[in-house]
Formats: sequence, structure tokens, C-alpha cells
Amino acid sequence: MLQRFFLSVLFSCSFFFSFSQAKSENIVVVTMDGLRWQEIFGGADSLLTYDTTAKYSYKYVQKHFWSSTALERRKKLMPFFWSEIADKGVLLGNRNYGNYFNNANPYWFSYPGYNEIFTGYPDTAVNSNDKIPNKNENVFEYLSKFPEFKGKAVVFGSWDVFASIFNEKRSGLLVNDGFRDLTGALTEKQKVFNELQHEAPDLFHGGERLDVATFHIAFEYMKTHKPRLIFFGLGDTDEFAHAGMYDYYLDAAQKSDAWIRQIWEYIQSTPGYKDRTTLIITTDHGRGLAAGSNWRHHGSKIAEAGEMWMAAIGPSVKAEGESKQKAQAYQGQIAATIAAILGKEFKPAHPVLPALSLSGK
Ligand SMILES: [Zn+2]
Repeated sequence: MLQRFFLSVLFSCSFFFSFSQAKSENIVVVTMDGLRWQEIFGGADSLLTYDTTAKYSYKYVQKHFWSSTALERRKKLMPFFWSEIADKGVLLGNRNYGNYFNNANPYWFSYPGYNEIFTGYPDTAVNSNDKIPNKNENVFEYLSKFPEFKGKAVVFGSWDVFASIFNEKRSGLLVNDGFRDLTGALTEKQKVFNELQHEAPDLFHGGERLDVATFHIAFEYMKTHKPRLIFFGLGDTDEFAHAGMYDYYLDAAQKSDAWIRQIWEYIQSTPGYKDRTTLIITTDHGRGLAAGSNWRHHGSKIAEAGEMWMAAIGPSVKAEGESKQKAQAYQGQIAATIAAILGKEFKPAHPVLPALSLSGK
């Protein structure tokens, strides 16, 4: 059954499948948890912008994010995506063109999603958000066994389950998630960020800090340590969507876009990173449609929650812009893609979905 599934995926993705990839030396992955493809490609949703019964500030949404066309709305929401990435990178997942990007796992929530992204294996045994150490090897862990990546692969995230998803103990990766302080020799900035994360409002009442803390802790680490593989796991979008706050959800997406711009501008102005680094941006799952408040939710009971998107920019990526090709790709292809871009083949003990050919070769 599983075998057949992989074969069918492999064949359906044969268009993308390729052994040749233009090479990068570093990879940066950013995820925005549960951010819908509908907003990426269409900006603010008209139903949610003009829902006058809404408990969130629809007037704020109208003022900051509304415009009469989808092309204008998406540019308002994600200006970096719809300038730099659209010009020089690729955006997959606009279903209006038949360009599909999906979860291959059947669960459509976070741990199975991040497992799929980083292990390349939509393992049906990974079916809970509990802090269970992941038995599947992830691509950062795999690559960090090569001397050139040893000690150079790091994970930062707002959600305190990333340590389990990346199996911190076994993988030996530096993982800074939840409200954990960064340790070791710290700059003055890093000391302040450690303090601020505890002093900022604990909006989500769990083990999840605000993305503003995660971004700055990770970005300062990037500047001081120059890792070759770094993950920024952002989560505000999902939390605000669950809370039904469309205004804050869009705000979080826009702030993430601005952080991604900062990361990219840093990459392209820093020797060692410049023109040698590919940036991959995606999400762990989709969400439902606006009608019936389904946009707030995800999981296998929400029909559209397995619909996603991904974007990439860098020397290994052809400047296709928004892909309008009829195609089907999966989140689980990202792990092998990361390795292929670095000139490696990802060969863990479990099956892996094939790499995407982002270079167009
Ligand atoms: Zn969620």
C-alpha cells in the first residue's frame, strides 16, 4: 500500500524529478505555520474582509490589506514575496492555475507536517503533536554528519515541539524553541533577546513564544555564527487563525514577509552567503475556506487543509516566478531537494519522496 503510494507520487511528480541541480552551499528554511495558499496568492480574503459580524477588526483589514484585485492585495500583504521572489525565485501552489502543492501525509496538522518537510517521509505513524522524539532522521541531521556541515546546522522555532520533531538528543542539532534561552557566549543583543522573550506577553498560553522573539534570536545567531543550514520556524499565523483573529493573522503574515526580506538582504550582502545560499519558504499545512469559519481550522476533517504552497529563491532556483504549470508536488519533496541543492543525496533509513527540480534543469 505504502509502496504503491510512493510509486504513484514518484510518477505524478516525474515532471519535477531531476538529478541535476545548480549548487548552493547554504540553505535557509523559513516556515509560517498554517498560512493558507489563498492569502499567499490572493491576499486578504474578500469574505473575511467584509464580514461585518466578525469579532476581529474587519475595518483594520480593509484599511491595511484590501485592494480591488488579488494581484494588488497579495502585494500589499507580502511585498517581498511579490517583488523579489516573484522576480528572481519561484512560487508553487496557485491552484487557480492547476499548480498543486500538498501535504502527502493525511493528517494536516503541525508535527506530521514538519516531519514531512524535514524527513521527506509522510510517515503515517507520525500522527500526534505530542512531544515524542522523532524516530525519522531529518535532512539537517543527515547533512550534519558530513564534515562541512558538522556543527553548522541549527533549528530555531516558536513552538516548543521542534526539539522533538528534530529529535534534538539524537540529532545533536542546536535547537532553540519555545521559551528557551540561547546559551554559550552571547552578544549584548542576544542577552537582551533572551530576556525580552519572557517579558513579552505570553499570548498563546502554551509553550509557544511570539515570532518576534524567535526571529531576532535566530537572526542574531545567524549573523554571529554563520550556520550553513538554518531553520526559522514561525508560528504566529496559526495561533491567530485558531483564535479567529483575521486581522492579527494577516499582520503576522506581513511581518513574516518583512523578516524574510531582512534575511534575504543579509544573505545577499554577506560574503560566504551571497549568491551561495538558497532560501526555501513554506508551511506545515493549509486551512479551510472562509465560509463557516473553516479558515480557522485544519486537520483531516477540513477538506482543504492539505493544500499548501512553497517559495524559493537562490542560485539553485530558476526565476520562474509564480508557477502556472499544471503540476502536483508535495511538501515531502523538500527534504531531498535541500540535499540535492547542496550536491548531496538524502539517503536515510526510511523512504524519501523525490527532490523537486527548482533549477529547471
Ligand atoms: Zn494549528
